[in-house]
Amino acid sequence: MATNPSKFPNYSPGVMSLLPLYYVGWADSVLSPSEVKLICKQIEAFPFLDKKDKMLLLEWSDPSHPPSRKLFRHWVNLIRKTAENLPIEKRKSLADLGIEMAKRNAGTIDDITWSAPETKAALQELEKALGVSSLEVYRNIFRPAQRAKEIEENVHQPGFDVTAMTQLLDDDYHELRNRMRILLSDPAFHLQTLREKSEHRDVVLQWCKLIAQQGLAAVAYPLEYGGKANMGDYICVFEMLGYHDLSFAIKFGVQFGLFGGSVLWLGTKRHHDKYLKDIGTLDLPGCFAMTETGHGSNVRGLETTITYDADTDEFIVHSPTEAAGKEFIGNALHSKMASTFGQLIVDGINHGVHAILVPIRDKEHRLLEGVRVEDCGYKLGLNGIDNGRIWFDNIRVPRENLLNKFGDVDANGKYSSLIESPSRRFFTMLGTLVGGRVSVPRAGLSATKTALTIAIKYALKRRQFPSQDKNVETLLLDYPTHQKRLMPLLAKTYALDFALTYLAKRYVNKTEKDSREIETLAAGLKSYATWFTTHAIQECREACGGKGYLMEN
Ligand SMILES: Cc1cc2nc3c(=O)[nH]c(=O)nc-3n(C[C@H](O)[C@H](O)[C@H](O)COP(=O)(O)OP(=O)(O)OC[C@H]3O[C@@H](n4cnc5c(N)ncnc54)[C@H](O)[C@@H]3O)c2cc1C
Repeated sequence: MATNPSKFPNYSPGVMSLLPLYYVGWADSVLSPSEVKLICKQIEAFPFLDKKDKMLLLEWSDPSHPPSRKLFRHWVNLIRKTAENLPIEKRKSLADLGIEMAKRNAGTIDDITWSAPETKAALQELEKALGVSSLEVYRNIFRPAQRAKEIEENVHQPGFDVTAMTQLLDDDYHELRNRMRILLSDPAFHLQTLREKSEHRDVVLQWCKLIAQQGLAAVAYPLEYGGKANMGDYICVFEMLGYHDLSFAIKFGVQFGLFGGSVLWLGTKRHHDKYLKDIGTLDLPGCFAMTETGHGSNVRGLETTITYDADTDEFIVHSPTEAAGKEFIGNALHSKMASTFGQLIVDGINHGVHAILVPIRDKEHRLLEGVRVEDCGYKLGLNGIDNGRIWFDNIRVPRENLLNKFGDVDANGKYSSLIESPSRRFFTMLGTLVGGRVSVPRAGLSATKTALTIAIKYALKRRQFPSQDKNVETLLLDYPTHQKRLMPLLAKTYALDFALTYLAKRYVNKTEKDSREIETLAAGLKSYATWFTTHAIQECREACGGKGYLMEN
């Protein structure tokens, strides 16, 4: 038994084992009726307590007689004496700490009790049932210097195997992700707060060129065009760019995914041979011109016309009204060519929406005659992307420029398609957008992870309002409300990461048979995950107080 210079009696090991729980239970000066009921019931059942112990503990459990300040201090001193000499793993929970306190006050026979798993389980059960989750109260047991050390240790030494977790999350793309991590930390990709949109756009364009030089932009294209025919790699690169700058991810997606993807998936060999290599190196910057001012979601209602002229064997691309102008087109200011969607009219018959490659600028980057482009201006975000409006005034384009995989016009002016149903043809063409639906939520989730990392780390440093012993202020993350704000978001982020990995795998391995199901899954998950991203990032901002409002954060 330990010697006791105070006027309080020495406690038995059994009482010692429960002292940390009593300390935390009484720290807010309240023992609720359900807590009292539970404690009394458990105390009766604990085999390691004798009659005298039980009487003392029941006395301490009387809600109408809280422990005096002196008694409370005495408990703190006893707990500290043991706790301060213990390594962290032996005082992770109140039950662990209680066992150690009992051991230090026990004779050799009693040692068996305190090493028995049942004893620990019984204490853990009580701790869990009491819902003692206030970390701050627990940390108050320790002196400020040790508390700070513990927090540091907790921050820098997570209680799980980081390498194993990284490999699990990196999935099949561990090497590629590591390569991207190293690349993006290169000074060439140094992040800056650029308020002027033209500066930001130039930087993002430069970054896209650097990524292309690394051979990481064309990865989805066939080998003969500088790629690796690996859509999974493309999705992975896109996701990693989301950790850096979302303008970068979207610009990359527009050039290599939407523009390049439309040439790859809607075009045929003649287009691949002529353009794909240059698209993958960014020697041919292009855009994906689908949306119009008058029609966004309703793509079938597009007004742009692509009319076949049998006399010259050309197509005439035209915006018949102001509202038929293409709107919000990414890369519009940097592009030389636009993959343009419009109604295909041959011999007076409308065959529905098709895509055609329309050159819009010459080598010197001057707009071609008949093409008008306007900057969409500043947006709420993504100002590193040059979104613009484009109008076509009877632009003549060679017949070969029609992206003709699903619908073609021959030299005799005859339209043909392997897909008879216009509706099925339309949805097949829109299938080019599915890669984006799989990639965009992943980059969004990367941004969520960054925001959560900042908010959680901040909450582990930032202190507000004095704690019980008035010496130090309370850490934000020790407030249960703050935990409830951030921890469910963190858990959901993990869940969505696994869900999006599943989706990407299904998409990469899709067959004719399951492609409809995957498209539906992609549409649903994209909406759900990006709504979550918006909500989570806003919550993280608010959780950082005024600092969350700063542009640099
Ligand atoms: C940053 C950015 C980049 C973009 N880049 C490109 C690009 O590179 N190329 C390109 O072609 N387009 C691009 N777009 C355009 C984008 O594809 C359109 O904004 C999108 O298709 C929606 O069209 P809209 O803006 O006309 O909205 P609308 O279609 O007018 O929709 C407005 C609202 O009404 C809702 N709504 C519409 N129809 C229905 C309905 N039937 N039932 C219920 N609700 C409905 C929509 O959900 C939405 O909330 C970009 C947009 C943004 C914001």
